[in-house]
Amino acid sequence: MRVSRRMLTGWGRTAPTLATVARPRTPDEVALLLRETGQGGMAQRGAIARGLGRSYGDAAQCAGGLVLDCADLGPGFRIDPATATVTAAAGTSLAELTRGLLAHGYFIPVTPGTRHVTIGGAVGADIHGKNHHVSGSFGTHVRSLGLVAPDGTVHRTGPERDPELFWATTGGMGLTGVITEATFDLLPVETASVRVDTDRTPDLDSALALMSATDDDYTYSVCWIDLLARGAATGRGVLTRANHAVPADLPPRMRSAPLRYRARELAGTPRRVPPGLLNTWSVRAFNAAYYARAPVLQRGALQDLASFFHPLDAVRGWNRLYGPRGLVQYQFAVPFGQEAALRRIVETLAAAGAPSFLAVLKRFGPGTPAPLSFPLPGWTLAVDLPADLPGLAGLLRSFDERVAAAGGRVYLAKDSRAGPEAVHAMYPRLDAWRRVRERVDPKGVLRSDLARRLEL
Ligand SMILES: Cc1cc2nc3c(=O)[nH]c(=O)nc-3n(C[C@H](O)[C@H](O)[C@H](O)COP(=O)(O)OP(=O)(O)OC[C@H]3O[C@@H](n4cnc5c(N)ncnc54)[C@H](O)[C@@H]3O)c2cc1C
Repeated sequence: MRVSRRMLTGWGRTAPTLATVARPRTPDEVALLLRETGQGGMAQRGAIARGLGRSYGDAAQCAGGLVLDCADLGPGFRIDPATATVTAAAGTSLAELTRGLLAHGYFIPVTPGTRHVTIGGAVGADIHGKNHHVSGSFGTHVRSLGLVAPDGTVHRTGPERDPELFWATTGGMGLTGVITEATFDLLPVETASVRVDTDRTPDLDSALALMSATDDDYTYSVCWIDLLARGAATGRGVLTRANHAVPADLPPRMRSAPLRYRARELAGTPRRVPPGLLNTWSVRAFNAAYYARAPVLQRGALQDLASFFHPLDAVRGWNRLYGPRGLVQYQFAVPFGQEAALRRIVETLAAAGAPSFLAVLKRFGPGTPAPLSFPLPGWTLAVDLPADLPGLAGLLRSFDERVAAAGGRVYLAKDSRAGPEAVHAMYPRLDAWRRVRERVDPKGVLRSDLARRLEL
């Protein structure tokens, strides 16, 4: 097993901390590391699992402690065509899995905005995709998990087998055990393409109205918002919605290999990017051009899966564009009926000239029984912002208050700056989750920088 000392951050590159990083290859090695940690051996500051570090904040870090990098937890995955399920090792990335599954006519049931996410990270954060309004979050599709508990015992858990532990682990941010593998349902597909309908929405209310009226006709739906537009155009956007294509939708040249997956990196970001590259002026110009170039209304445009789901993955290391201070993503959800809170936050960001080229709005469907899972029936907005934006901390604190008052919450996998009081108010089932955690981890072996910051 490889062991090293490393400085780690999340995708936002804020708050680096130093940890001992071990790369276990088997559940037995995971068990050994957790047992040693529990005995105060290798790392008295606790231990936490890490996938590909795509959570934005400090969820997969443990300052002065042990981080279990799950990349070598293998091998890969096996498909069971009889049940249309796959069992994948926790370190398997969605990129690897997507390529392997498509060859057999299957797709992952929930795909986030990047394919560089592991199965462990997908369950740990109970991730959602553009299909949450019809398909729910990742945990909805999981049938069972292999889990090494903090005392080193190996468990198999699922919605029918110790459901309390299963749901506490789903969205539990790695704090109830180390997932070693997951079995989950697959989505049968006939091609590696989607048919996309695009609508330009002139303001926030027209996007909300259009999504409410017709989202259910589509498997996937997401609206990019121009957060720098002001006045009557506040919250204008580009709504893209899609369904999986069938072979008859493809041009003749693609029909001989309808499941061929094309996922490429087209460019990399330089190691050193000057601070302030993404500022109000540069982002305003980008947003205006993006909005102007989008079709006012387009129906049935064919797009391959990688460019529809993961356009940002085409640029390796795009997070470095935010310069040495990094970026913060603020993603929150508010229940239906609380649109005023969403509108107010959009107006405040627009008035502040907050330079965000990545602001996406989605409509969530029902949540899961998982106490720390993020999605709730309502609206979610995710906004990337430079971490060194003047006044950012105060602005986001005021949003936390508004979101909590509206019965909403921030997404722990994206958070890097919230305080414990705000988060405790946003997750009313936190105590139920803590009871399970105390049962499986009475010594507090599993800890992360996020858990310490938010007093979970
Ligand atoms: C560009 C971009 C777009 C994104 N889009 C979306 C989106 O659309 N929807 C969405 O939901 N999320 C999205 N995310 C967030 C991302 O999907 C989650 O943060 C996910 O958890 C990252 O997986 P990872 O493998 O990198 O895990 P890490 O970031 O390394 O870890 C995330 C959490 O999972 C835990 N964990 C990891 N492995 C294990 C394991 N084996 N056992 C137990 N716990 C484990 C960690 O302890 C940590 O708490 C996006 C992130 C980026 C960078």
